[in-house]
Amino acid sequence: MTNRAMNFYAGPATLPLAALERARDELVDFDGTGMSIMEHSHRGPSYDAVHSEALSLVRELLEVPDTHRVLFLQGGARHQFAMVPLNLLRDGQSADYVDTGSWSAKALGEAKLVGEARLAASTKVDGVYTRIPTQSDLDLDPKAAYCHITSNNTLFGTQWHDYPDTGDVPLVADMTSDLLCRPIDVSKFGVIFAGAQKNLGPAGVTVVIIREDLVEGGRTDIPQVLRYKSFADKDSLWNTPPTFAIYMLRNTLAVAKERGGARAMRAAANERSSMLYDVMDAHPDFFRCPVEEESRSIMNVVWRLPTEELEKKFLAEAKERNMVGLKGHRSVGGLRASIYNNCEKAWVEALAGFLDEFRVANG
Ligand SMILES: *Cc1c(COP(=O)(O)O)cnc(C)c1O
Repeated sequence: MTNRAMNFYAGPATLPLAALERARDELVDFDGTGMSIMEHSHRGPSYDAVHSEALSLVRELLEVPDTHRVLFLQGGARHQFAMVPLNLLRDGQSADYVDTGSWSAKALGEAKLVGEARLAASTKVDGVYTRIPTQSDLDLDPKAAYCHITSNNTLFGTQWHDYPDTGDVPLVADMTSDLLCRPIDVSKFGVIFAGAQKNLGPAGVTVVIIREDLVEGGRTDIPQVLRYKSFADKDSLWNTPPTFAIYMLRNTLAVAKERGGARAMRAAANERSSMLYDVMDAHPDFFRCPVEEESRSIMNVVWRLPTEELEKKFLAEAKERNMVGLKGHRSVGGLRASIYNNCEKAWVEALAGFLDEFRVANG
């Protein structure tokens, strides 16, 4: 395969070449059945095998304990912003939200449409976020229905490295941009959710890991399509699931397993992100990383150059080198390299080299 772009887009993001090639080889004739997996019934044995394998890969790679269910839902992470409060927030209760970026703020906005929700902390200063709060920054309500955090702040390049202790209050984490970048202790969470399109697979499927008692205790005065229980009771086959997206998720997770799973993912992510941070830290006069060092993300690296003109020039020259997706989010500007699990180490090496070359030529 030649001419594959060095893809640093924030999401949908790059997928492993092996996962794409497997899909290509099986596209019109899945497993000798004379049909594409897309054309199979979601109740038939061919799809069922893919579906079960994908569910068990999530369980295995994240060491999900028996106390938690794994669900495949639709509607992306933003659907979870609504589904979490709809299921878990009751009249007379309040939910806590820790605001570390625009996705947390949007999640809080949805919860307020459902019931009572309050800010347990915010690290927003002059419209931007440059850090993750410490435990002592948090003003937690011990009676909260749950406490919501954003594990990795995709736009601002910050990430929780030590998850907060919320006591008996279920911790809910939006891990859309970092699930499976490292091992996690799933037992510490009430709900984990992630749109697949950054670290796990293509857009169209959302992975939800939820504690059994929260499924069972979920509200029943909401439509069935919004209840976790509808999907949990039917192994995520309550209605037609996004079969092709789940098939691609399976292919992607199979590659992650082959590469050594969550621990190997963490080592590789640390290595990739260090390559970029090291180049920038060596020349703080030219590269400005707005994020506080302890809060730096190993998935999304953000930085500024001395002027916006230089940033434009950088993007144009990167494109000539076949590097794409390096523009910062439109709401924050600057530059960003999204270096998720499936981003090749060689691409990051090339980018680090180019950063230094660019500095020498323009510094
Ligand atoms: C991308 C992203 C979202 C939005 O995901 P959708 O699947 O498009 O709804 C939410 N939260 C985080 C942290 C993200 O990175």
